[in-house]
Amino acid sequence: MSTEMKSIAIVGAGLAAITCARTLVQAGHSVTIFEKARGVGGRMSTRNSPFGTFDHGAQYFTVRDLRFVEALQTTPKTCRPWSANMVQVLDERGRVAAAGLPAREPHWVAKPGMNALAKTWAAPLADSILFETRVTHVETDAMDKNLWQLRTVGADDSNHVYAGFDAVLLAVPSTQAMDLLATVPKSRRPSAATMTKLGKVTVDPCWTLMLAFPQAVQPGLTTLGPQWNAARSTHHRIAWLTRESSKPGRGTIERWTVQASAAWSKEHLTDSKDRVEGKLIKAFSEVTGIRAVPSHVESHRWLYAKTGTPLGQSHIWNAKTGLGLCGDWCLGHRVENAFVSGLELALAVA
Ligand SMILES: Cc1cc2nc3c(=O)[nH]c(=O)nc-3n(C[C@H](O)[C@H](O)[C@H](O)COP(=O)(O)OP(=O)(O)OC[C@H]3O[C@@H](n4cnc5c(N)ncnc54)[C@H](O)[C@@H]3O)c2cc1C
Repeated sequence: MSTEMKSIAIVGAGLAAITCARTLVQAGHSVTIFEKARGVGGRMSTRNSPFGTFDHGAQYFTVRDLRFVEALQTTPKTCRPWSANMVQVLDERGRVAAAGLPAREPHWVAKPGMNALAKTWAAPLADSILFETRVTHVETDAMDKNLWQLRTVGADDSNHVYAGFDAVLLAVPSTQAMDLLATVPKSRRPSAATMTKLGKVTVDPCWTLMLAFPQAVQPGLTTLGPQWNAARSTHHRIAWLTRESSKPGRGTIERWTVQASAAWSKEHLTDSKDRVEGKLIKAFSEVTGIRAVPSHVESHRWLYAKTGTPLGQSHIWNAKTGLGLCGDWCLGHRVENAFVSGLELALAVA
């Protein structure tokens, strides 16, 4: 491990970035994190509503890598097992096609919302994160050809240049990484072979619907519709449904998060929110049997939700140029893939 302290820019503040940053800081390096959103967590995200929160990105995560187990033990109060044992597979009409499938492994959720894990892990890095700062260009430092500079745009459209970095690590979805790589001088880009591999990574979109039914919290009525809390679905519009209120620490108001299938999301990518919400509510009723009118309806379009074809290696790092990439898409489509990717990039850089 090098003993020289490096100044490292990390683009993105999802779980891959936060994992990477923590490891680099522990190794004695200085990091600056650039995040276009107002908070950390990326797709491990939580949306507030007058009726409670929705995990409108990642629903839960599984833990298979020992290093993830150990990292989670550093903040033991942040995550809780979620008894999603009721997960079943539903057919087009909401009939149970595979009954009572027991979960093969524990499902974990962060508490009080999925974004709590990244928030907790990022707390010691608070002074190093620039929010609402979208990186638009990754360039050679104007003062020193061995260093890097980033051009950014803020929420108020203000432009800034941040210079003097020994390394730049892109911890953003692959499509966004490709856009940024196009701004990197050709001589400092990954090799042609690596660029070809990168070009083969695919990430599917996902329309997500959030519904609240406060009328269900009345004496003698605790939930609406089915008695299961989460289900995979083969309905052509819907791939997944969760009763948010079944997760630990979420409050009791009946709330559902519904994820459209990748194929349907692609087909309706540019539809208006009203149209998408109408169609998904209809499908939700068909699958769950819940015909009540929700008091709260919201939707979110994820352009880059779930990796279809991953890169097949945990990260990309070129020590000569000081340019690296990480993210779930390197290995798969799961939260744990983001963790492992961010960790292994940091270990390579450190
Ligand atoms: C709808 C949905 C459901 C999911 N369900 C599950 C699940 O049940 N279980 C599971 O394990 N995983 C699930 N996932 C996947 C999981 O959320 C991801 O694997 C993981 O969160 C990816 O983390 P990441 O750090 O690689 O990327 P991200 O979380 O996408 O982080 C990238 C960050 O980079 C920022 N960014 C992008 N471009 C720029 C730029 N130019 N400048 C500055 N910042 C930028 C973004 O704002 C974001 O914060 C789901 C994802 C979605 C969308």
